[in-house]
Amino acid sequence: MYKDYHVHTTYSDGKDGMESIVLYALSKGCTELGFSDHSYTFFDESYCMKSRDIPKYFKEIKGLKAKYGDKIKLLVGVEQDFYSRKSIKNYDYAIGSVHYFKVGNNYYPIDEDKGEFVKTVEEFFGGDYYRACEKYYATIKKFAKRDKISIIGHFDVISKFNGDGSLFNENDPRYIRAWKAAAKALVKKGKIFEINTSGYRKKRRSDVYPAKPIRDYVKSIGGKFILSSDTHQKEDLFFAFDEFIKEL
Ligand SMILES: [Zn+2]
Ligand SMILES: [Zn+2]
Repeated sequence: MYKDYHVHTTYSDGKDGMESIVLYALSKGCTELGFSDHSYTFFDESYCMKSRDIPKYFKEIKGLKAKYGDKIKLLVGVEQDFYSRKSIKNYDYAIGSVHYFKVGNNYYPIDEDKGEFVKTVEEFFGGDYYRACEKYYATIKKFAKRDKISIIGHFDVISKFNGDGSLFNENDPRYIRAWKAAAKALVKKGKIFEINTSGYRKKRRSDVYPAKPIRDYVKSIGGKFILSSDTHQKEDLFFAFDEFIKEL
């Protein structure tokens, strides 16, 4: 009875085509699947959907619905980067994620590469990770004002390369204040938080996104969660869902 709404395909940076993902999902007893490829982001085409492919994306899912619709519910979703300018009004749902720091007119990836992340924090935040985190959470907080965004993607991805705690202390009051303000605003607007198992799967972290203290806080103020594998290959669908469903 698995459901998964954070799934990447060959339309963006996933390895598998849609139909093979549907077949795999069916073999695992999945009843509902949402595709959520990366929205077209004009300043970084390395990993996202090509603008011209978006109509094909809709068309292919429509075809799969006709073929497999009696066995599985398929949804047309998108993972909308905060800085993407593509309209999301035609999608069934949208996951809002922040993948970049915007400095002037330039965009610096947050979750691509540790060395690059460290360099960005040194160059633009004077090496102050708390200031970088404040900027990140102030940005993700702004999804509260975007009605079409229903799910918040990997809420604390800013901690991706901090699995060993060597970059900053996640118990520091400045860090906690930053994520709390964002979480509060997002929960107030009814945004759903992912329990995103991708970092956990890659053993980059000993926890999912968001970390336990954030999950506990979100829960305590009445926030809702959804399980997401954020998969880029079909074998990773529903990763660790059995483990975290209990917590939900
Ligand atoms: Zn993402
Ligand atoms: Zn994703």
